[in-house]
Amino acid sequence: MLSRIRNIVDALVILGATFGIIITSTVAHEVRAQDKSMDNMPLGRTPVAIVDGKYPASYFPNSELLGAGEMRITALGTGMPNQTRAAVSISYLVELGNGDKFLFDVGSGSMANLFSLRPDFSKLDKVFASHLHIDHVGDFMGLHIGGWLSGRYDPIHIYGPTGSKPELGTKAFVEGMQKGYAWDLATRSGALPDKGAQIVVHEFDYKQENVVVYQENGVTIRSWPAIHSLDGSVSYSLEWNGLKYVFGGDTYPNKWYIKYATGADVASHEAFLPPKALAAYFGWDLKQATYVSTRVHTEPQAFGKVMAAVKPRLAIGYHSVQSPENNAAIMDGVRKTYDGPLALARDLMVVNVTKDTIKVRMATVDEYALPPNVTQAYVKAPRSDQKEPSKFVTDGKWKEYTPPPMPK
Ligand SMILES: [Zn+2]
Ligand SMILES: [Zn+2]
Repeated sequence: MLSRIRNIVDALVILGATFGIIITSTVAHEVRAQDKSMDNMPLGRTPVAIVDGKYPASYFPNSELLGAGEMRITALGTGMPNQTRAAVSISYLVELGNGDKFLFDVGSGSMANLFSLRPDFSKLDKVFASHLHIDHVGDFMGLHIGGWLSGRYDPIHIYGPTGSKPELGTKAFVEGMQKGYAWDLATRSGALPDKGAQIVVHEFDYKQENVVVYQENGVTIRSWPAIHSLDGSVSYSLEWNGLKYVFGGDTYPNKWYIKYATGADVASHEAFLPPKALAAYFGWDLKQATYVSTRVHTEPQAFGKVMAAVKPRLAIGYHSVQSPENNAAIMDGVRKTYDGPLALARDLMVVNVTKDTIKVRMATVDEYALPPNVTQAYVKAPRSDQKEPSKFVTDGKWKEYTPPPMPK
């Protein structure tokens, strides 16, 4: 059974790498959600329950009812800071059968993939940051503003580690960022629900080992340290309903991951480009590439050793530049040290997890996906007065134009 899963996953990865899966659909209209489980359905589709683990070949967003005990993990970004159309920076979405949704990292560029899934943004209010590299948190502003425009009317919460100094921690990152986009926040407050502007930071000690950082509604999330660049990278586990997902932050292979990821149903961990491929990709010399690949990150053979020790039901490798050559180099390395179930993540890879099955597929999304409809609760959420430009600026209105009358 395990080797069958492995072969299927390998085939998926290799197919994707060889042909470049082109994903489009022709959805033109959308219907308003009637029911929580039927949010934002493309016209003409009815969400279906999955029977006997028989999933459609592609995942069409919002077309499947997530089982009450099921977890869905979607890779929104799997690449590097230098993004490509094939791979933006790191982000994972985890959705649970109880309706909860969690984001692990929100790297640059990942929001386009999140919006293409047309999620209920009122529930996308929790981000768990592994560390403060921009390929992991660079789209936080985009999520804050985009989600606020698209259905979130309560504060957004970001959970993240301290650094070695207060100014290098998550709290300082968020406060500095908020100052940076003060103008944006000021223009939208009043027009959008007031509480949606707020950011609540939950900063925790990066040194804590397997300590709870979040516990609600039957979901427990813990963190432990990772080894990467400077102090202040962490990994997370999410446990719910007897299922465990591990999200590995950028790291050199570390003892904590081996210890605390053990027992994971799905364990994700970086599988960085091996030195030669990295050198070729950036035009670096082999010494620099070897340092970055094997001292700051986890190269494929090391990833394989980690997974051979952790033995998850499915190992996910990510954080590389997607190309047929690179994927082959990573797969070669991993398979020297690990022969268990494996998926090398691509953007919009979807993993459904139940106690019995793990299904790996690609999402099929609409290039022109409309934002999801907002709820009545969003429409009615309190808003303060809308702001206007000064008299100096409004006096500059061109007199030759008169806008149409406002609707009653
Ligand atoms: Zn990093
Ligand atoms: Zn990174």
